[in-house]
Order: sequence, then structure tokens, then C-alpha cells
Amino acid sequence: MHQGLNFVGGEWTAAASGTTFRRRNPASLDDVVGEFPESSAADVEAAVAGAVEGAALWAATPAEKRADVLEKAARWLEERAGELVVELVREEGKTRAEAAMEVSRTPRNLRFYAAEAHRIDGTSFPAGDGGIVYTRREPVGVVGAITPWNFPLNIPSRKIGPALAAGNAVVFKPSPVTPLLAQRLVEALLAGGLPPRVVAMVHGGAEAGAALAADERVGAVTFTGSTAAGRAVHAAVGPSRRCQLEMGGKNPVVVLDDADLDRAAQIIAKGAFGLSGQACTGTSRVIAHEAVHDELLERVARAAEARVVGDGLREDVDMGPLAAGFQLEKFLDYVRIGEEEGAKLVTGGRRLPAGHGRGDGYFVRPAVFAGVAPEMRIAREEVFGPLLAFQRASGLDEAIALANGTRYGLSAGIVTRDLDRALEFARRSESGLVKVNQPTSGMAMTVPFGGLKDSSTQTFKEQAGPSMMLFYTQEKSVYISPR
Ligand code: NAD
Repeated sequence: MHQGLNFVGGEWTAAASGTTFRRRNPASLDDVVGEFPESSAADVEAAVAGAVEGAALWAATPAEKRADVLEKAARWLEERAGELVVELVREEGKTRAEAAMEVSRTPRNLRFYAAEAHRIDGTSFPAGDGGIVYTRREPVGVVGAITPWNFPLNIPSRKIGPALAAGNAVVFKPSPVTPLLAQRLVEALLAGGLPPRVVAMVHGGAEAGAALAADERVGAVTFTGSTAAGRAVHAAVGPSRRCQLEMGGKNPVVVLDDADLDRAAQIIAKGAFGLSGQACTGTSRVIAHEAVHDELLERVARAAEARVVGDGLREDVDMGPLAAGFQLEKFLDYVRIGEEEGAKLVTGGRRLPAGHGRGDGYFVRPAVFAGVAPEMRIAREEVFGPLLAFQRASGLDEAIALANGTRYGLSAGIVTRDLDRALEFARRSESGLVKVNQPTSGMAMTVPFGGLKDSSTQTFKEQAGPSMMLFYTQEKSVYISPR
């Protein structure tokens, strides 16, 4: 069992209270992955105090050195890729292939942001008196990064990478579901030569996150997680500090009457059941043209039944367990709600017992519901599990109205051979990502990423694009006159 610690004031340390929590392998509950500090506001206070000192040092460090640290951290992660894949499967419940994708992408992110350290620039303007006005981008100071468990390396790397590249110190509050992988990322940065006080990490849950968001010394808070927690973070940060929130989704795929149905079923199954349905951009609704609805439903149900569910370390498995007991409860609750509301459970929706090479973990059969009306909760609320709700539409207009009919707006897809209708969907879709003939999940690291409506603050998109570095730097205008 791993003995985890916080990293506060440049030192590995227990929580001030001495309290700890245990993280178990969601595939085999008797396998304890590690024990970690349950941090309180006192630990966050100490972490931020250390980071304030680190921020001054790091802001004065040349961009070349900042980039060099991120490059070396990337190399450290790559050298340990094999071990990290196994740890990620064991801690979060991904399959090997899903874990390998995350582990390979994280160092690439760090390299990408290392390059951004060299691109921080400003603008100059002529002034009437022969002088000049110029702008400079300066680090914000201390950044608070609060992250979810479903990409425990990748999402933090998209926050900590650009924050450090821009010259900030970071206080990192990872999810209590994936504390070990969070610790590996901090180890990578330290091994890359990051001065100790420039990063701090406090393990724990909402209490630590709330204390971090509320701390006035934290100049910018970047959060990824549920819409409910994001709203609490936003309220705590208030109007005079920066806040970036990426939150939940209820992502639809529209399938038109001209679609190749085998391809559509593949796209839907990948988006809905990949990562055990636990991707923010995962597919949770299918809006099928009535001419193809029944045939498509049958194909998707067959694809759901064909999933080999088991411990992600086994090579033949293509869907791991749900990540935590609360995830299992939520999934089973929504299956019950769907049935009670009158939707038809076509397949799955039950917990899988131990046996057939599976341990006693949180294994379920993916659920597919048909006859889902727009007002039903399974059509509107985020389940964050492998539960798919089928709805019927008579044409593109109705499909778009249904697709836009939730308060979320993260990702939306359409499957069609008709480019005109695909482009019309892209124009009218109320979502931050639109996918044509692709799963709703998955995105390129070089492309801006973020939602609309209740899926995001929409202030600064993550991933690449100019807004990413703008969030982590503040602009100052300097006026100079000749003597
Ligand atoms: P969560 O909201 O429960 O927790 C996210 C983080 O916030 C954790 O570190 C948690 O400890 C912390 N937290 C919880 N309550 C808090 C509070 N009141 N104040 C401060 N911090 C608080 O989410 P989760 O279960 O870890 O992740 C699943 C959710 O994340 C889903 O809703 C999913 O859609 C979303 N998500 C969104 C994206 C995106 O980019 N839009 C990506 C991944 C996951």
C-alpha cells in the first residue's frame, strides 16, 4: 500500500490533523491502492503561504528554464509510462488502452505548454508625444487547480502545465478518487527541477477545494468537475479574481436518415461506453431520425451487450469498472429513475457480480433506454456512467431542438453523409464542441476546448488556443514619454 503525503511548503507532509483516507482499486475492493492525507483548511492555508513565496521566485525565472522543467518532467513521465499505466488502471479503473492513451498524452501536453513559455509577448503602440505604450503579460501569482478523477494526469497537466509555463506557482487539489496519479505528476515536476515551493499539493475533498477557492491570495482558480461543485467554486472566488470552470455535459449524437448505421452504432458505442461512460464529453443521448431509429437502437444495444466488462489490466477487457461506489450508486439510481419515469430499458443497467475473471468491484452492464421523453431526468441530467437514452426525431429541426434541450452544452455530434445538414447542425448546436461523424468524446490537444451554457464559465477555454495562456497571465499597459 502506498503511503501518500501532501506537498506543502516544499516538503512531503501529513495533514495537520493527521487524518487520512484510503483509496481502493475499483475492480477489487480488498486491494488498497494507498492511504492519503485528508486535508483541511489549515493545510490549504500552509500550502498557499508556501506557494506565495514560490510564485515570486518562479516569476523571476527565465522562460527557458521554465520550459526546461516541463520538458524534463515530460521525459520522467515517459520513462515510467509502463508503471503509470498499471497504476492508473488500478487506481481509476480504466482499461489498459485507455490508460495508455492518457499516460502518453500527458507528457505531450507538458511539452506543448513548455513551448508556450517562449511565446508570451506583448504589443506596443505609438504615442503622440514620441513616446510609447506597451503591454506586458505577467504571471497571476498563485494558481489554484481543482481537478476531477476521470483524467487524473491529463486534466491537471492541462492546468499546471500552462500555469507554470506562464511563471505562476500552483496549489493543486486533486480528486480524492485518484490521489496516487496526482502525486506522480508532482513527482515528475520536482524531478524535472521545479523549485519545491513553486508547486504544492493538498489531498482531500470538497473541504480542501473550498478553502483553496476562497483563499484571496490565490489569483486564479481553474476547476474541472461537476456543475454543482463548479458553481460553489465560482461563488467562492467572487468577481475580482480569475475563475475558469469546465463542468458537466449531457452530450447528444443526432443520427439522420442517410447515415451508415454500422458506422453510427460504432461512433455511439465508443462515445457512450468508452471510459465506462465516465468522460465529460461522453455520449449520453441518441437522437435518431424515426426512419432509422429502430434499426440503430438494435445495433447499439448489440454493441452494448458485446462489451467485455472486467478488470482493466486484462487484455481482453474493453470496459473497466465504475471508478467509485458513489458512481455505481448514481448509475443504478438513474436506471431506476428511467424505469420509473416510463422509459424502456432495452439492455443492461445491472451490477455484475464477481466471477468470470472479475473481482468484487463496481462492474456494470451498460444501459440503453428507448422511448425517452425530453422531460425525463435521464434525458436532462448528467449520469456520468454508461447509460444511453434514445429519443426519436422527425427531421433535422426537431433533432436540433432536442439536442439543445438541456442546460448543458459541452459536446454534440451528428452522423450523416449530408454536408449541408451537418454544417447547419454545427451552426445551430448550443455546444462548445461539435463532432461530425465522430464520437462526442475525444479531442485534439492543439484545439481550444470548453463548453457552453452550464458546462463552462465560457471565459477562458482550455487546451490550446490563445485563451489558455491569457488565463494564466494578466496584462498591464505601460505608458512612457520621452523626458
Ligand atoms: P466533482 O465536482 O465532484 O469534483 C471535482 C473536484 O472538485 C474534486 O477535486 C473535488 O474534491 C472538488 N470539489 C467538490 N466540491 C467542491 C467544492 N464545493 N468546492 C471546491 N472544490 C470542490 O467532480 P468529479 O466527480 O471529480 O468528476 C466528474 C465531473 O467532472 C462530471 O460532472 C464531469 O462531467 C466533469 N468533468 C468535466 C470535464 C470538462 O472538461 N468539462 C472534464 C472531466 C470531468
